[in-house]
Amino acid sequence: MSCIFCKILSGESPANIIYRDEQVTAFRDIHPIARTHILIIPNRHIASVNELGVEDEGLVGHMLLVAMELAKQEGVAERGYRLMINTGAHGGQTVPHLHLHLIAGKLARFLLG
Ligand code: AMP
Ligand code: ZN
Repeated sequence: MSCIFCKILSGESPANIIYRDEQVTAFRDIHPIARTHILIIPNRHIASVNELGVEDEGLVGHMLLVAMELAKQEGVAERGYRLMINTGAHGGQTVPHLHLHLIAGKLARFLLG
């Protein structure tokens, strides 16, 4: 498996993992664009939103709830944060393993419009 996020999941590649449960793993983005920049990914390889099925409804909801909990943990929930899922080349997706960006900090307000 050549997917970089699958390698992080298996421990083959290093990452600053801050949360893990049976469905998802969260780690800090290697090139943060704001003070808090965390990626929440499913533990199973799903290439993008385009590959989600009805059976993944629970997983997607769980990703959002984990993002919300991590925002609280980071102390940014009250001031606000941005959740983002890029999909496909024109959507700015560069890693073909579904990931939810949790971005917070003063800068997050100005990013990407
Ligand atoms: P996207 O452009 O939405 O596909 O986001 C991919 C994100 O993954 C980018 O913000 C990258 O900085 C981040 N990224 C790529 N490789 C790694 C890695 N090995 N560890 C942590 N974050 C990574
Ligand atoms: Zn993968």
